[in-house]
Amino acid sequence: MSNNSKGNARVFRPALMSTHAAGPREVRLIRLIVLFSVLLFVASLPFLRTPLPAFPAFMAVYDAALFVVYLITAVLLYSHGHTLCSRALMLLADGFLFVACIIVPHLLTFPDLFAPTGLLGAGLQSTAWLYQLWHGGFPLFVLLYVRQARRERRSAGTASLAVRPSVSRHIVASLAVAGAASLIALQQDSVLPVLMKDWTVYVRDMTVVSMLPWALNLLALWMLWRKRPHAALDLWLLVTLITWVLEVSMAALLNAGRYDLGFYVGRVNGLIAASLVLIALLIENGRLYAQLGRAHERMQQRADELERRSALDGLTGVANRRHFDLMLGREWRRALRSGLPLSLLMIDVDFFKHYNDRYGHLAGDRCLKEVAAALAGGTRRASDMVARYGGEEFAVLLPDTPAEDALRLAEAMRAAVQQLAVGHEGSAVSQVVTVSVGVATVRPGPVMATRRFAQVNADSSTQSLPQFTQLVDAADHALYRAKDGGRNRVEVAEAGAIIYQMPGSAR
Ligand code: GH3
Ligand code: MG
Ligand code: MG
Repeated sequence: MSNNSKGNARVFRPALMSTHAAGPREVRLIRLIVLFSVLLFVASLPFLRTPLPAFPAFMAVYDAALFVVYLITAVLLYSHGHTLCSRALMLLADGFLFVACIIVPHLLTFPDLFAPTGLLGAGLQSTAWLYQLWHGGFPLFVLLYVRQARRERRSAGTASLAVRPSVSRHIVASLAVAGAASLIALQQDSVLPVLMKDWTVYVRDMTVVSMLPWALNLLALWMLWRKRPHAALDLWLLVTLITWVLEVSMAALLNAGRYDLGFYVGRVNGLIAASLVLIALLIENGRLYAQLGRAHERMQQRADELERRSALDGLTGVANRRHFDLMLGREWRRALRSGLPLSLLMIDVDFFKHYNDRYGHLAGDRCLKEVAAALAGGTRRASDMVARYGGEEFAVLLPDTPAEDALRLAEAMRAAVQQLAVGHEGSAVSQVVTVSVGVATVRPGPVMATRRFAQVNADSSTQSLPQFTQLVDAADHALYRAKDGGRNRVEVAEAGAIIYQMPGSAR
């Protein structure tokens, strides 16, 4: 968790339980838990003072479990608060951290656990006072949370930038409060009112003193209930406070001392409630991860689709010029490495300006689409690629294709376009749309295929670029010759199959 106390941050508002209302299933579950707690309380009422065997180990398990639960809850809430730039959530997290911290001296000072009269120099009253401060302190943090949440709600929408609260400052403040409360309970044993008659039995004053945390819990409960709208987190907090009120009633107000039924049942109830808040937060975290995974998958699919589309020509649906250039460079380098021939056809629609003039631009577009489809239908391998080179010119890249095969394919494509029988009255060579084709092939010689040469070309655009443009030039020249020779025909580059030779090698 990183801090940025000084910097302003744009508020990120994902759908978290701290910002969104509980769903109907969550509300039903919360009602069930409250009902269970109340029923447990009512059922235990007549027996709260029934003494039960003393199990100090129970306290060790209870305090340790609560410590972990409250600490993790605090961490999750700090993370929510940091993400949402919410000081209110930070204050709530402070409350959970405060409880986690004060549990530590409570555990260490509990009699008969680590020492007969507890550690840290605790007196008879220390542990009971730690309990009171712990249960009175948490509702104060809840009250601060409610007040701050109201403020944040009022200012929401007025500012798109929020100051990100400092997590470390909040942690330090919370630790300081817990430390001070612990010191008071530990050091002021003689000053604070007496709560314990002996190591297990409460004095009558205990009831009076316990009224304070009890009332604070009720007040926090009331204020939280009045805070509207309720986020799902608020409902879970309400559960916690209700069970705390019941716990204090059972374990401090109405029972008689340590190790009676109220003492045990009240604590178990409190632990269950605290764990439920944590479980709700953890389930939400899992849900968020799943959402993140799905969002990432959707983004990947969109990126793939975008990449696919960015390689295509918008009008004809064949590859565009950018993709053609990319693939030509790639296939050129591959040809150099493998020593296999690479052929290129440059194809131009004959008298297309006349076609546009006569039939209109839209008809011209339709014609280009048909020509592109006919050319694409003439390819045989997955590696063959038809691209729109520009205007009414197309290029066909044919990896691993010798000159004779390229010539055959070019002738078949020319015939395929003619067979489309798209009427072209403005053409001087035919009644229908025709194309002229220039063919060029490179067969890298043995020298070109050496490893050293391939490496140089693989990573150097300055070396490879002028060389593969020679292939385009050669095919282009052949195309001009086809045009000059009368159009609707195929011409092969003059230099024959091998148009590239290493400098100094024989032609
Ligand atoms: P040649 O036989 O010598 O190739 O003659 P041409 O008329 O085909 O060649 P020229 O380069 O003079 O004209 C090409 C025409 O192609 C001009 C332009 O209007 C048309 N053209 C280029 N791109 C498009 C397009 O996307 N849609 C349409 N409808 N026409 C286009
Ligand atoms: Mg043309
Ligand atoms: Mg042209």
